[in-house]
Amino acid sequence: MVAKIIDGVAIAKAVRVGIAARAQALAARGIQPSLTVIVVGENPASAVYVRNKVRACGEAGIHSDVVHFPGDATEDQILSRIRALNADQTVHGILVQLPLPQHISVRRLLETIAVDKDVDGFHLYNVGGLVIGQTVFPPCTPYGVQKILEHENIEIEGKNVTVVGASNIVGKPMALMLMQREATVAICHAKTRDLAQYTILADIVVVAAGKPGLIVAPMIRTGAVVIDVGINFLPNGKLVGDVDFEGVRQKASYITPVPGGVGPMTVTMLLENTVAAAERATKAA
Ligand code: NAP
Repeated sequence: MVAKIIDGVAIAKAVRVGIAARAQALAARGIQPSLTVIVVGENPASAVYVRNKVRACGEAGIHSDVVHFPGDATEDQILSRIRALNADQTVHGILVQLPLPQHISVRRLLETIAVDKDVDGFHLYNVGGLVIGQTVFPPCTPYGVQKILEHENIEIEGKNVTVVGASNIVGKPMALMLMQREATVAICHAKTRDLAQYTILADIVVVAAGKPGLIVAPMIRTGAVVIDVGINFLPNGKLVGDVDFEGVRQKASYITPVPGGVGPMTVTMLLENTVAAAERATKAA
């Protein structure tokens, strides 16, 4: 069996057409969906991510602002800006670009963002909502994986899913979202003994560990769906995921490449959450 390679760029493009149409419909009513990104300090990787978000917003008809604080800004300065953005009715989405400098409490900042503007889905209310299936905004990366599975008509209900990686932003929410769709989910992490014992049983494997070459063909059941969230730069500068792509694609039924798989969907779901925030704010007004 040779896997179908899932084209995340094409899926993202198709989803973004719908998002842009919704943004246009709002604009026709005099409401421009708007996202504010808060950046603290200078981080080259963050600068690239923020540039991508701003460009994607522009292409979808979403207004975006970047509020850039110096690396020595105080927590209170940032918190008061977040409170002002919460009160600003022209702002529909607020996100804090992570990582933050050591002296800033990530949780305090995230908990200050109004729940109905928390388009990254990292506020405790949204995280808790995942447990009972009532999230206001699903976090963007797992939401993107879910969209990919839906787009490819891959059934989730009743399937065995193994999520490799248990971070708060990818692995754990991914597992909860798939459980909500009635999959049987195993979550693995760095201390999992015999990872292959879990992956080999899975109909769907979602890998988000940040370890190149972690998942190889003998760990995968013939015909499984393999979604690779990992982003790793090898010493030679090559970008790879966590899955041995060439080996695993000979055995899986579907596989996402890196780059061009999950990555383009993460920003897409940020756009989706921002437009959804604007639509809800309009209905509530
Ligand atoms: P993270 O916070 O470092 O978490 C990594 C998780 O993987 C942890 O739960 C860790 O276990 C687990 N892990 C590490 N080594 C493992 C091993 N050998 N076997 C099993 N589990 C292992 O990373 P993250 O933020 O979730 O991101 C994960 C990867 O996805 C990274 O490569 C990141 O760049 C990428 N990513 C991609 C996108 C995208 O848009 N495509 C978005 C976000 C992240 P412990 O909990 O035990 O430490």
